[in-house]
Amino acid sequence: MRLDATDLRYISSQEFRVLTAIEMGSKNHEVVPSSLAAQICGLHHSGINKLLGSLAKRNLIARVQNTKYDGYRLTYGGYDYLALRAFSKRDSIAAVGRRIGVGKESDIMIVSSPEQEQRVLKIHRLGRISFRAIKEKRDYMGKRKSASWMYMSRLAAAKEYAFMKILHEHGFPVPQPIDQARHCIVMSYIDAFPLRQIAVLPPDQIPLLYSALMKLIVRLARAGLIHGDFNEFNLLIREVSTASDEEYDSDSAGAPPARDPQPSSSSRRDPTDSAQQDTLEAELAEGHQIERGNGFERVVAPAQSQLPDVDDVDDVSDEVDQEDEEEDDDDEAASETSERQIHLGDDVTVEPILIDFPQMVSINHENAEYYFDRDVECVRRFFRKRFRYHSDEFPRFQDVVPEFVRKQTKLPKSAPQPQDVDQDAVNNVQTGDVRLDLLAKASGFGGSKQDRELEQYMSSLRLSTTQGMIEVADSSPESGDEVDSDEQDEEEDSDQEDGEDEDESSEDDEEDDEQGSDA
Ligand code: ADP
Ligand code: MG
Repeated sequence: MRLDATDLRYISSQEFRVLTAIEMGSKNHEVVPSSLAAQICGLHHSGINKLLGSLAKRNLIARVQNTKYDGYRLTYGGYDYLALRAFSKRDSIAAVGRRIGVGKESDIMIVSSPEQEQRVLKIHRLGRISFRAIKEKRDYMGKRKSASWMYMSRLAAAKEYAFMKILHEHGFPVPQPIDQARHCIVMSYIDAFPLRQIAVLPPDQIPLLYSALMKLIVRLARAGLIHGDFNEFNLLIREVSTASDEEYDSDSAGAPPARDPQPSSSSRRDPTDSAQQDTLEAELAEGHQIERGNGFERVVAPAQSQLPDVDDVDDVSDEVDQEDEEEDDDDEAASETSERQIHLGDDVTVEPILIDFPQMVSINHENAEYYFDRDVECVRRFFRKRFRYHSDEFPRFQDVVPEFVRKQTKLPKSAPQPQDVDQDAVNNVQTGDVRLDLLAKASGFGGSKQDRELEQYMSSLRLSTTQGMIEVADSSPESGDEVDSDEQDEEEDSDQEDGEDEDESSEDDEEDDEQGSDA
């Protein structure tokens, strides 16, 4: 599924009105009859067919022939379009670049702000995974009748944004959230590599990184939260080039680096810089690989050994296997991976940035201990396998969040602004007030019906992943996209109101301050 940004400019205001009408009609119609669309956007029935036809031609909507009546439904393409348009109007995105990641459940794109600052657009695409296998497991899926993928994607985006915002405001090392619309979020670009790709770390950095990760898990738990997917894919490892560099600063947590960190073994460049292209090609000819994991390309030395595969992160219940390192050695090297390996030079210092939050849970969640232990075990296991690093020092849920802390339900009065955050209070919530899970709950997550649905989906997905049942469908199932009537946000409806004169305005509107830059 491609995201087509070119259409943004060329849709007419009437087409836009019709598209929005189809979206609105979807709130309570699985298939929106054209007469209803006409009624919603105040056009004559006769006049709307051409517009519907041209939207369908661009795959923004799809014609559905029902037994009862014909009509249209919004496609993911149309949903993307509406989200992008909202971002563009709010100056969160001025241009869409290339795709840097295709997750099982998301697309990750590099985008830029009107000031040409690189940002990341995450498009949630729940339902890309085939649920055939999971559906059999009724326990996991519960009694939800039809999977409303767009609605669930939107929920995932809203939840991810809410958590990222709370974490960022409280000084956690996460990207800076910039904007959210429908099933998409915009955040700052992190110039880093997923831990998964780090093959070699300077020896002194290994215990330091291990301990930084454990501290992060503990700090989250003391603030009431468990990530729930704290693994090598969701930890970006950023270089802090020299000791003289500034300490981690949450305000600049997401800002693309002004400097150019240069580890001895690699170099980094903007792939659009044609002046450097020749050298790049020369290096390629020498057998170097170009790393395309993130927004910049980086030339890495030819691989010396395959990365051990650390995929099979099982449940914590298999603690026994911590004793089985010899056995771990066995066939790890044989498990080939096509991923690039990053070798970090001797002089680097690294720091982790945490991403991917739709599955976060509160320490009051019924399975909190299980999730906490699993997060801890993911890190331990990865370090054993990848870096041959074994530590008996690791946090236990019962110690980190004793009973009385879990019972504490006092809600902080208001979300403090980043500049007001008292880090000591955040770090000592056992005796203080700040419980981020409660803040999140106040913003709609952590107990609502929709949130439970999303949670059920997320945990069934995780279960299915560990049990190897995932199939990635060729295209997203777009049927059953009905949207709960109470769950479309008004802010986006307002897009529709000024739809008439919308055509070029979002592109030309330069005077507005960038909405998200101070988020
Ligand atoms: P998913 O939910 O599909 O796992 P993630 O949020 O984990 O999606 O992102 C997938 C990948 O995209 C990450 O492993 C990382 O490589 C890249 N990525 C995501 N967010 C950012 C960001 N803010 N900056 C840089 N890269 C990112
Ligand atoms: Mg992820």
